[in-house]
Amino acid sequence: MSSGLQSAAYIVAAVLFVFSLAGLSKQETAKHGCYYGIAGMAVALLATILGDNVAGLGWIIAAMVIGAAIGIHKAKKVEMTEMPELIALLHSFVGLAAVLVGYNSFIEPGAVSADMHTIHLVEVFLGVFIGAVTFTGSVVAFGKLNGKISSKPLQLPFKHPLNLAALVVSFILLLVFVRADGSWFALIVMTAIALAFGWHLVASIGGADMPVVVSMLNSYSGWAAAAAGFMLGNDLLIVTGALVGSSGAILSYIMCKAMNRSFLAVIAGGFGSSGSAGGDEEAGEYREVQAADVADMLKNADSVIITPGYGMAVAQAQYPVAEITDILRKQGVDVRFGIHPVAGRLPGHMNVLLAEAKVPYDIVLEMDEINEDFAQTDVVLVIGANDTVNPAAQTDPNSPIAGMPVLEVWKAKEVVVFKRSMNTGYAGVPNPLFFNDNSVMCFGDAKATVDAVLAALLRD
Ligand code: NDP
Repeated sequence: MSSGLQSAAYIVAAVLFVFSLAGLSKQETAKHGCYYGIAGMAVALLATILGDNVAGLGWIIAAMVIGAAIGIHKAKKVEMTEMPELIALLHSFVGLAAVLVGYNSFIEPGAVSADMHTIHLVEVFLGVFIGAVTFTGSVVAFGKLNGKISSKPLQLPFKHPLNLAALVVSFILLLVFVRADGSWFALIVMTAIALAFGWHLVASIGGADMPVVVSMLNSYSGWAAAAAGFMLGNDLLIVTGALVGSSGAILSYIMCKAMNRSFLAVIAGGFGSSGSAGGDEEAGEYREVQAADVADMLKNADSVIITPGYGMAVAQAQYPVAEITDILRKQGVDVRFGIHPVAGRLPGHMNVLLAEAKVPYDIVLEMDEINEDFAQTDVVLVIGANDTVNPAAQTDPNSPIAGMPVLEVWKAKEVVVFKRSMNTGYAGVPNPLFFNDNSVMCFGDAKATVDAVLAALLRD
């Protein structure tokens, strides 16, 4: 393929990626967004493979077949609740790839002109640095999200000076690297520092801040890819990396806003340190109800808001929830959904589940759109949500989630909480909502309890 044709194909792919992002920003167009993305990636792959690497075509195809087989197997097997960990793991691969490309590009710089040589060295150094931070940071995020690593923040003494020292020493090593016209010593020491820095950075961020970490690593992986693009002289990789990097940064900003946190405070870490379920003793008593009671409450209601959370995803309760919604709507009840921006374990988690269960988009509202309506609502069903409906965020200034905007479900006439026990949510913060006079608990796996409510509704 001529280089002109390859450049044209890259432009087409880049435009398709932009369309893809635009499509993904709305539920109604998300599917089309995916198709644009797939088409863009296919064009990009073909143009890259046929463009300049024909000599190694056999190797590339073999690697792609193995990679695709593993990818398809994993994607088919993965539960929706495991998606965030899978994404974190995939980010780690991007980081590792950037490190490997960096080393490769240092060993074999290719056709770099003399005046571009210094710039190439800086690209290699920065690419390896960003890649290494992304790699270990994503591995820790993976561990924290699947519970293999504690979600409590690691509180090393002098953690901020340590982080600062890592950055300063890496910068000095960059100067050494460039002055020495490429120094293995500087590159290897910096790689070790960057790996430790990435590990420490994410390990010292507490459970409640994980949404920001996931989107932040998404952004880092984009910059790592862009850095690899510079090293390889591949314009499309630069454009794609920059798209991922900047959209991840925007998502991090949105997540920070949703949690009322400053980005720097998140990076500095330490939030969500209370990992205990302590505090229940002063919380009072709770009332328990059965599924049939909930069905009665729903039958007598004019307006219902459902606020789903991580528990609905684990239990896969979205299908009976959608059926209940359908039945109630047919009976003239005003049913809507209130979605917290960090509900579940990845951005948009609840929207995906509800779309999967064919809940109409127009009754699925964002927190800001629905928060004022709770006071005029008869029944709120809190299905497997906890931190996102915790009034302590507003009432307890010492709570680790103080200041985080939450769904104000307690303002409704009656609140039914579906969960298995009185345990805390992801942030490990006790929830006084469960002990309110207008709250009742419906214990059990959310799928089983919601199924039972559905059965009771269908009976009458
Ligand atoms: P939470 O994690 O606060 O609470 C979920 C609740 O679901 C738990 O209290 C649990 O209680 C219950 N539950 C678990 N399994 C089941 C089941 N099978 N059936 C019924 N209930 C179940 O969820 P939220 O969605 O309210 O909040 C999300 C939290 O996750 C926030 O702290 C957020 O910061 C964090 N987070 C969000 C990310 C994102 O991008 N959205 C990424 C990473 C973290 P019990 O054990 O008693 O059943």
